[in-house]
Amino acid sequence: MKFNYNFKNIKESYLFAEVANRTETYRKANPDKKILKLGIGDVTLPLAPSVIEALHGAVDDMSRQQTFKGYGPYEGYDFLRESIREYYRSNGVELAMEEIFVSDGAKSDLGNILDIFAKENTVLVPDPVYPVYVDTNEMAGRKVIYADATDENGFLPAPDYKIDADVIYICSPNNPTGAAYTKAQLKEWVDYANAKGAVILYDAAYECFITDENLARSVFQIDGAETCAIEFCSFSKTAGFTGTRCGYTIVPKCLEHEGFNANKMWLRRQATKFNGVPYIVQKGAAAVFSERGQSEIRKNLAYYKRNAELIANSMDTLGIRYTGGKNSPYIWLKCPDGFKSWEFFDYLLSGAQVVGTPGAGFGRNGEGFFRLTAFGSEETTREAVFRIENLLKK
Ligand code: PLP
Repeated sequence: MKFNYNFKNIKESYLFAEVANRTETYRKANPDKKILKLGIGDVTLPLAPSVIEALHGAVDDMSRQQTFKGYGPYEGYDFLRESIREYYRSNGVELAMEEIFVSDGAKSDLGNILDIFAKENTVLVPDPVYPVYVDTNEMAGRKVIYADATDENGFLPAPDYKIDADVIYICSPNNPTGAAYTKAQLKEWVDYANAKGAVILYDAAYECFITDENLARSVFQIDGAETCAIEFCSFSKTAGFTGTRCGYTIVPKCLEHEGFNANKMWLRRQATKFNGVPYIVQKGAAAVFSERGQSEIRKNLAYYKRNAELIANSMDTLGIRYTGGKNSPYIWLKCPDGFKSWEFFDYLLSGAQVVGTPGAGFGRNGEGFFRLTAFGSEETTREAVFRIENLLKK
């Protein structure tokens, strides 16, 4: 017997463990100081009332013989897929029902989708990046190459025709940099992928933060994407479902290559390894698309956006360069005074008792950068911004 030796190649992720360690060490040494956390990417507001009502209603459905549900469809219930379809239609994207697959979140499907791709593919991932793309490919023994996301290109790398990538990851708005591709920039990637016979795995987990019309909310707003892209989206950040778990994956029917059809393969894969998202959760997710649900989640999103604006305005006041803050819950800032990421972490923690995330933890190009998030409470965000300004103005 042999274990999967590729696990030896996966780097230990020390990032959040190290953040927690250093924070705890500081807390123990300074028990009287109040530490404010702007590091996590998790939401803090509770689920919308309309979602809660739908969840309760669905629990009651399970208690009655006539409305009880056993195994559901692998692809999700039609009531939710219809709502997702309508949502895409409102963004100018026409989908067939068979192209919509309900998932238990973007993370699972971002990993699971690799089942339909051959091992010998070359995988192109931006650096810095959400670590899941790299780790899932390395677990499967695939070669990963990097597209540099730097200050110079606004953390939005463009395709390089000299490089032959097969599987390309794009996350927009991006975690960690908060940068988001315009439709014109994304068109360049779609053209590249179609020219190379490559596929784009498009992570739209933060699309709900987009307000600027020039930015893409979905890769399928771009002509030609239906023959080269798969999209992953989630209710996690849109509607606070990080703990409730629901998302969706769009696999176009015309994404074909060498006689294989991605949509058919994905359905086959799901039918084999997945028994669907709980009915109760899907009912809660469907409520997000109701008129009331939309107005409630817009309020929550506006709350996080105000936090992002507070942090961004503060960076403007301090003359610190950053990306994100608009169209994104993340503010990715250049550490002032030549600080390295972890040095700046320690400086902020000891000088202002504010915790953020060192950019170096997201990849080589993250060194010298720092991520703050807008998912905290307004009170914490205001206080943290006040303290950061006081410290850095000195
Ligand atoms: N994609 C990105 C870029 C993320 O930052 C996250 C979570 O933070 C996810 C996907 C995971 O989303 P989900 O909760 O739907 O699994």
